[in-house]
Order: sequence, then structure tokens, then C-alpha cells
Amino acid sequence: MTFKSAKINAFRTWGLALTMLGMGLMILGTAGIVFWGQTGKIFAAFGLVIGLVSMMASLAIYFWAGMLSTSAVQLECPECGKLTKMLGKTDRCMFCHTMLTLDPQQATITSKQLKNGQIKQ
Ligand SMILES: [Zn+2]
Repeated sequence: MTFKSAKINAFRTWGLALTMLGMGLMILGTAGIVFWGQTGKIFAAFGLVIGLVSMMASLAIYFWAGMLSTSAVQLECPECGKLTKMLGKTDRCMFCHTMLTLDPQQATITSKQLKNGQIKQ
């Protein structure tokens, strides 16, 4: 998955998508009873179960993202100057999507160089 966003934002997006999917399936399942009566009940049962599982999964993702964000490093983005959080050693800025790293070996430019305007990407 090559999502061009910060990891925390990606988690939130997935959590939201799963919640929407779960709710959609539950509504569709319930609508099945209204439209197809007896046969719709099987459809409804499937929809409700899958919908519930999907909602639980999204809850787990939200919970996980919450746990991760407590251990995330908060720092000021050298590119846009906003306060962002990063997971792991390399992550993208939540606002301008610049790749940030804590590992000096991987950095192509340091924040000091950026401030001095020596190298501009
Ligand atoms: Zn930024």
C-alpha cells in the first residue's frame, strides 16, 4: 500500500471506511427484509453479521491508532512549520506530506540545512 499520507491519517481513513461499510451493510440487510420478506431475512442476517464484524474491525483499528498515537513522536515539521506526529522512524507530515525521518542516515537534508536555505527541494 503506497498511500501518500501520514500513517496515523491512513489508519483513520481505513477506520472510517470500515465503519461506513459496516453501517451500509446493516442498512442494506435490514432493507432486504422490507423488500424480499422471508428470503430477505437470510440476506439481512448476512448483512448484519458482516456489518457487525466490519464495525468491530474499524473499532479495533481506531483503538490501535489511538494506542500508536500515544507513542508517536510529536515534532514541528521543518517544511510547513506545523506540529505533526510521526510513527516509527520515517513518516510523512500530516499537513504537507513531506517525508520526515528521525534517522540521520536516511535523511537527504537536515532541518538546519532547510532553515538556512542551503538546499531547497
Ligand atoms: Zn509539514
